[in-house]
Amino acid sequence: MTSVPFTQPARECGDCNMCCQGFLPANIHGYHMMQGLPCHFVSDNPCGGCTIYEDRPEVCSGYQCLWKISPSIPEWMKPNKADCIISGREATYEGIEYKFIQVKEGHKPIRGEVLNYILRMCIYNNFNVQYEVLGNWYWHGDEHWMKHSMESMNVTPEEPAQDA
Ligand code: SF4
Ligand code: SF4
Repeated sequence: MTSVPFTQPARECGDCNMCCQGFLPANIHGYHMMQGLPCHFVSDNPCGGCTIYEDRPEVCSGYQCLWKISPSIPEWMKPNKADCIISGREATYEGIEYKFIQVKEGHKPIRGEVLNYILRMCIYNNFNVQYEVLGNWYWHGDEHWMKHSMESMNVTPEEPAQDA
């Protein structure tokens, strides 16, 4: 399984502020941001940005928006157009560091063409992915990643059938 090839920022956020709308939970300087509760510091302007940009915490400055850092992802996949946020994430499981893609639904359930594009991209590139559909989480990737994912959901992987 290859790592996600994170590259340098090449795009501007412009009229998007999806990562500040609460779809990605975080604590920002003591204020919780969660589903239904946008960041305390996002501009009231519907397309506004961060009101504390120079003082934003590391969870914001280090955030990896895949649309923004991966020019090969099409313009129509911009989070405020696709209504879906694609993030580059990292995790450690059994001593192994993973990079994976997290796909979070936005205001509405993920659209078919959006999910189709992401899963095809992940399968083609052998990326591990965690994705949300209708509020439920699903995973795709290598065996170790799937084991980690199922254990995080308290699901015991089935043992292969033994020959008699
Ligand atoms: S989701 Fe991506 S494009 Fe939209 S504001 Fe956040 S970093 Fe910028
Ligand atoms: S601090 Fe700024 S960049 Fe971070 S979530 Fe809030 S509005 Fe967005």
